[in-house]
Amino acid sequence: MAAPNARVRRALDTVLAEARPHTEGAVADYIPQLALADPDGLGVALVGVKGRTYEAGDSRREFTIQSVSKPFVYALALEARGVAELSAHVGVEPSGEAFNEASFDGGRPMNPMINAGAIVVASLIEGSTAEQKAQTILDGLGAFAGRTLAVDDAVFRSELATGDRNRELAGLAHGALGSSEDVATEAYFRQCAASVTAFDIAVMAATLANFGRNPLTGQQVVGPPVARWVMSVMASCGMYDGSGEWLARVGLPAKSGVAGGIVALDPGRFGIGTFAPRLDARGNSIRGLVMLESLSREYGLHLFSHENSLRRGPIRP
Ligand code: GLN
Repeated sequence: MAAPNARVRRALDTVLAEARPHTEGAVADYIPQLALADPDGLGVALVGVKGRTYEAGDSRREFTIQSVSKPFVYALALEARGVAELSAHVGVEPSGEAFNEASFDGGRPMNPMINAGAIVVASLIEGSTAEQKAQTILDGLGAFAGRTLAVDDAVFRSELATGDRNRELAGLAHGALGSSEDVATEAYFRQCAASVTAFDIAVMAATLANFGRNPLTGQQVVGPPVARWVMSVMASCGMYDGSGEWLARVGLPAKSGVAGGIVALDPGRFGIGTFAPRLDARGNSIRGLVMLESLSREYGLHLFSHENSLRRGPIRP
């Protein structure tokens, strides 16, 4: 039998080959700078909670994190303020609607994985100006990734110039915001423009999967209760209006972004990052979905699968 690391590497090569023929879908163009992305970029990385790393394809190609940032910034806000305080500002119910819908429960956005909720979360991050909040966010995302991250200024400016829908959502959310609408949206736009690779987001996911401790640097970025909470919200809300089908089909907490990134993770085992810019109608990367579905199916990764229950074993008295 091959050593486990050779098997994982082969698995990543295999799913990359499976995903490559999928040239349907289109790169996001509602943020003009994103329309310039190379649609054929394709990469995958897997990082185990003990620090083993595996990658294939364009796993070190930079793209903007976009909504993949949402669970991690939510985790930072929870760590700083606690679940009770956050819950007064943003819910944890799936919206069943698109990521940029005005999905509210009273004055609170339905959850932190949609834009309205993520803008509220950004407003609750420490700092009185957008720059200060964005720096706190960038430092925190960097702790999850295990390296210093930078904002892609061209993408940030492009979204700042065209982000009226998000400003509108901030206006609707104003009762739940912890800052002015302008500060909240600008901090959020900078957050979304953080430049990462598939490898980076795999490390970030592995940090959550490792209950908040970065498996490469050893830094405890957030505590285990926060990690548990965030992974749960990713499971129920991470794939927007595709979340229910995603959980049934793939069975892993996940989060997608419109620049083509997706993270998925198995608590206590590993994080995966995929990168492929062509999106489906919901704004999820098509090749990313193909790769993650295939890995889940072939290797019994689904949290509710028989294979997974055998790995965990029966309850012991
Ligand atoms: N910055 C993007 C926006 O707010 C993020 C959306 C996404 O990745 N789904 O529209």
